[in-house]
Amino acid sequence: MKKRVCILYTGGTIGMVATDHGYAPLQGHLQRVLNAMPELRAPDMPAWDIVEFDPLLDSSDITAVEWNQMGASIRDHYGSYDGFVVLHGTDTMAYTASALAFMLEGLGKPVVLTGSQIPIGQLRSDARDNLINAILIAADGVCPEVSLYFGGRLLRGCRATKISSDELWAFDSPNCPPLATAGISLRYNVGLIRPAGRELRFHPCRTDVPIAVLKIFPGIQFRLFEGIVTESLRGMVLESFGAGNIPQYDHSLLPVVRKAAAHGAVIAVCTQCLRGSVQLGVYETSAPLQAAGAVSGYDMTVEAAVAKLYHLFSLGLESAAIRMAMETDLRGELTRPQE
Ligand code: ASP
Repeated sequence: MKKRVCILYTGGTIGMVATDHGYAPLQGHLQRVLNAMPELRAPDMPAWDIVEFDPLLDSSDITAVEWNQMGASIRDHYGSYDGFVVLHGTDTMAYTASALAFMLEGLGKPVVLTGSQIPIGQLRSDARDNLINAILIAADGVCPEVSLYFGGRLLRGCRATKISSDELWAFDSPNCPPLATAGISLRYNVGLIRPAGRELRFHPCRTDVPIAVLKIFPGIQFRLFEGIVTESLRGMVLESFGAGNIPQYDHSLLPVVRKAAAHGAVIAVCTQCLRGSVQLGVYETSAPLQAAGAVSGYDMTVEAAVAKLYHLFSLGLESAAIRMAMETDLRGELTRPQE
């Protein structure tokens, strides 16, 4: 029997058309193009159906509302398909991949996000390769994770980050090798792939979790940011230098962090470096962060840290439990240093 794949089409460049105001998605357009591609109905191709979201969005407009629609759609169709492809804009694809990884606990089937840098209707489009490989990967079931296929590589969704706005090799997962590479054949990195879960549990995401991301830069005047640390701020990702370092020159960040921690906010420290991990306490410039109640994001991407905060607050956990979970590997999103 043919394997069956469900394609959730949320928007993005892949199905966009040129308008007077720039590229924009057009309802029904992608389906018409796909129906006219004989290779998508070739004998070796799995059977597929497409669920088109309405409205289709540029992924800059995707929020937790759409994450919930995607998660609920996968849950609702879970029993009828062998795998899922999510067609999505590239701009926030890594955030959505991370969010779905956390929301779909116990996943036992592939969920592959993909899209393209050039719309499918154009001659040099990368959509055909991305789409065909994503469908094949979703059907064969070898990688029952939330993953992201782009430019010949399958990456763990909660490790992926967009690294190029114009190259066809738009994504990387700098702290995790690819789960598969598509050369003459599709080669899986089997030792790295997480085992299939037994039972899918969908955790919807609260849409109103008040979190912030603060990127540190030389000369940053922390007092300008004190205003955002109100009682309603629940979480903050601090994008620090190197191994978790922050400037000490006017000692003004720590009061901000302490104030946030006193309100029960969770401060997770990530690094601005593409590769490597936060190690709080290695330098004098990071030790006080730990003392002030911040937790380490280790080698998590900022995208994963943001999605994880959304997820943990949506579970209704207390701050202390969230702090602990932020430093724990839940879906392969972080590596803790050997203790
Ligand atoms: N702005 C587009 C989006 O993220 C870019 C893309 O899909 O490549 O929807």
